[in-house]
Amino acid sequence: MTQRLHKSDLGNSLRNLMENDPAFRPLAYFSMEVGLRESIPTYSGGLGVLAGDILKSAADLGVPMVGVTLLYRKGYFVQEFNKDDWQQEKPAIWNPAHELTLLPNRVSINLQGREIQIGVWVCEIVGATGYPLPVYFLDTDFEPNHPDDRRFCWNLYGGDNKHRLCQEFILGVGGLRILRDMGYMNIETFHLNEGHAGFLTLDLMREQGYYDSDKIREQVVFTTHTPVPAGHDYFEFGLIDSVFPPDALATIHRMMPDMPGVSMTELGLRYSRYVNGVAKKHAEVSNVMFKMDSVDWVTNGVHPATWISSGMRKLYNRHIPGWEQDPGRLVQALTIPKKELWAAHQASKLRLFARVLETTGKQLDPEVLTLGFARRAATYKRAELLFSDIKRFIDVTAGGKVQFIFAGKAHPSDNGGKSILQKIRQTAKELADKVEIVFIDNYNMEIASLLTQGVDVWLNTPMRPREASGTSGMKCTMNGIMNFSVLDGWWIEGWIEDVTGWSIGPEPSASDFDHNYDESLDAIDLYSKLEKKLIPTYYKDHEKWVSMMQHTVALNASFFNTHRVVREYAAKAYSIDFRGM
Ligand SMILES: *Cc1c(COP(=O)(O)O)cnc(C)c1O
Repeated sequence: MTQRLHKSDLGNSLRNLMENDPAFRPLAYFSMEVGLRESIPTYSGGLGVLAGDILKSAADLGVPMVGVTLLYRKGYFVQEFNKDDWQQEKPAIWNPAHELTLLPNRVSINLQGREIQIGVWVCEIVGATGYPLPVYFLDTDFEPNHPDDRRFCWNLYGGDNKHRLCQEFILGVGGLRILRDMGYMNIETFHLNEGHAGFLTLDLMREQGYYDSDKIREQVVFTTHTPVPAGHDYFEFGLIDSVFPPDALATIHRMMPDMPGVSMTELGLRYSRYVNGVAKKHAEVSNVMFKMDSVDWVTNGVHPATWISSGMRKLYNRHIPGWEQDPGRLVQALTIPKKELWAAHQASKLRLFARVLETTGKQLDPEVLTLGFARRAATYKRAELLFSDIKRFIDVTAGGKVQFIFAGKAHPSDNGGKSILQKIRQTAKELADKVEIVFIDNYNMEIASLLTQGVDVWLNTPMRPREASGTSGMKCTMNGIMNFSVLDGWWIEGWIEDVTGWSIGPEPSASDFDHNYDESLDAIDLYSKLEKKLIPTYYKDHEKWVSMMQHTVALNASFFNTHRVVREYAAKAYSIDFRGM
């Protein structure tokens, strides 16, 4: 980390521009949520954490980008449970002044006939080579804004559809205006991480002063993130008419004619020069869904330095010099001595178990095969699949052969998700004398990092093909932890049976899209592989187990990282030649 790679490696013209004008940033990345660290709780799950990881890698690589998102003063909630194991939400109050710097810039927008002032806070990510990348958090919670308008920056994904519409107008239109106010006049590409910020196209049109949709399209890149309908915001024109100021209203009607309302995904698809999904399978599914053939894919990744344990980092530093700036070099992981890899892994396992003991009072055995499952408790993720045949489950796992650690939050208004969490917690209690199952409350980036460094195997059982990518399993690969997962999202690309992990259920096929496959097949396969492959390998073939860990780093971590993702976006979507990358 002694060199400052970014400047000397960039193309000359780009270098001059950057040196003469620090505000020269041709790329702006917009995301409704950004997860940089758990002390800035303005993310709910994978979308935000991915955004944070991409911005961090962009900083490491010296990519001239800025990030734009909203500030949520009440964060995404703190999770607790009542005596019936029903999730309770407490506001995750935090103090932005401790984490961010308030800037003097103010711009205004008009919503529901009222003027709203928008302020901005900044968090500067300093990359591995010293390059600073600012992430801007928009804020409306201050005088003299109307009390109702101040609430727009309280909760992520809270409130009704009108509230959401206003938040997205603030993000897109307010975001563009604040960038201009700060002097960013030369942005060539606006990257929409999901459709939420799509209204920025309205303000680009206003700036332009005349209607030319091709010129807007040339400036926008759009990444779609989910084939699940709840992930695609839709606003009826009746609602939009009651909220938008007249000029924006006229523009949106012109941009989306013959429509009863605005789907933010549709807006993104129509007004972007490049559209991608987040894994190969997801692009295929999206092309069918959107009746298109041009949706490309850039498979997601995770930010290595954020997710790799300190023990593994030291090991990689010793055996694979330069891996941090170029994680592709992790392909050399087969040269890491097995003993050292195992020791580093067990250290992370002990750290996780210490936390489990502290928070749940349960003492887990570090010599026992430990499976982890943690993610948002959305129904399609099927956290309860493991318990679908309790008798068989006990058969396979009882007697201290396997233990399980669960975590996850359900959206406050998602009762389906809350019942899943209830079922997991109650099953854990019912089986307490047979199988060790623990639930860690309040899943966030810190818990995610303990888990993805400390379990032995990462379990994922989504309903095909609804997991667009999934990223928690990638965090595991950074730490040499194998995936045991349904063949969906990224795992289709990372899976080599008995080498990088194990599949669950049938291989993907074109008919998966109809969702009409027999789900019990997945459960049957899960139990049988656990019994015939995972348990025997873990206990009886340690050499093979650790060799699989090496292969997981070499074949998965070397690819599913955000350094590779950012380079791919630069080449395919941004069309900017960062020569040093
Ligand atoms: C990485 C992460 C996620 C995303 O995990 P998926 O596997 O994509 O579901 C969600 N929440 C937190 C806190 C994370 O760190």
